[in-house]
Amino acid sequence: MPARTILVINCGSSSIKFALVNPAQAQFALSGLAERLGSPDAQVHWQQGASKQHLALPAADHRAALAQLLPLVQSAAGGQLHGIGHRVVHGGEHFTAACRLDPASLSVIRATAPLAPLHNPANLLGIEAAFKLFPDLPQVAVFDTAFHQTLPEHAYRYALPEALYREHGVRRYGFHGTSHRFVSQRAAELSGLAVAASSWLVAHLGNGCSTCAVVNGQSRDTSMGLTPLEGVVMGTRSGDVDPNLHSHLARTLGWSLEQIETLLNNNSGLLGLSGLSNDMRSLEQAREQGHPGATLAIEVFCYRLAKSLAAMSCALPQLDGLIFTGGIGENSPLIRSKTVAHLRLFNLALDQQANARTIAGLAGPIQAAGHPRVLVVPTNEERQIALDSLALLN
Ligand code: ADP
Repeated sequence: MPARTILVINCGSSSIKFALVNPAQAQFALSGLAERLGSPDAQVHWQQGASKQHLALPAADHRAALAQLLPLVQSAAGGQLHGIGHRVVHGGEHFTAACRLDPASLSVIRATAPLAPLHNPANLLGIEAAFKLFPDLPQVAVFDTAFHQTLPEHAYRYALPEALYREHGVRRYGFHGTSHRFVSQRAAELSGLAVAASSWLVAHLGNGCSTCAVVNGQSRDTSMGLTPLEGVVMGTRSGDVDPNLHSHLARTLGWSLEQIETLLNNNSGLLGLSGLSNDMRSLEQAREQGHPGATLAIEVFCYRLAKSLAAMSCALPQLDGLIFTGGIGENSPLIRSKTVAHLRLFNLALDQQANARTIAGLAGPIQAAGHPRVLVVPTNEERQIALDSLALLN
């Protein structure tokens, strides 16, 4: 294997997703997930070539799990590991691109933690563990927010007193930037357009969901805001609600801030609406059997998604295409079809056969003949993180 391999690490509060990426190769040399870290059920699953394995790691924390992975990573990389790329959720206004991790950049990431209390501390756990285990390898942070630092001020400011922005950083930041960037570049390639002269609407639909307007390779607006809660309906997150909901729940039900945060982040979205699941596959199956909650959840999801895409169009000079990505966007003809049906005024329409067959990792156009382009583009955040890391390290 050529000496261009990056270990990509994405740490959550109790999980580590990892991949060994050589951008010259389509497949990852190694990929996997350590989950339920810190609990008696902690375990790690990984795939190397066609072989899939798992190992129980009772009570392992992030560092113990990474230490277990170390020999595996080194042997899969064949001694050619070039560096480590970490996904970091929030870079605030400080980071407009990936950065080399050193004591100065780490202290800025730590200082940004109040903006992302659920995410940045978990990302830092992974970074600190990796520095201890791989002291000689250069490490890079790639931020979810960085791609959106090109938003114009009228798109990133809330209609709130200026002091909240200037003194406390209260503004819209946006997330999923690595994915929006990757798929909009791929869409331009697939369509024979120059990235620097193309305009896209992007729907990233995974467990978290967001929309983005990408013009000439830059983000011009996006649906997530100060935190990843704003915007469209997600697996367990509500997306937009009336901001007075907080005080309403506190006054009428006596709920605490923690209860309200848990409601909006963990018990809402598809899960809350359906009363059944946060998983779109399960909801589609339940809808087929007539489950009213699943049916409603899918209707609200698609309508609000279409509304968000229509809103994003305000940032585009022209529409070169609508891109679907993420687990739902890449695999659900139903969600794509229902969403596009709400966008009749944009003259969007799908070729139902192309829509049905473009699933499971396939990329390509799915619009009906004579209608604006609609593309399915599988995202690959790990690959983009590896590319960004290599670009910086070279
Ligand atoms: P994450 O944001 O955690 O990376 P993914 O991008 O993997 O999540 O997306 C997970 C979502 O994709 C889940 O709601 C899952 O049900 C949905 N999904 C995956 N495959 C399908 C499918 N064939 N049909 C509908 N939804 C699917």
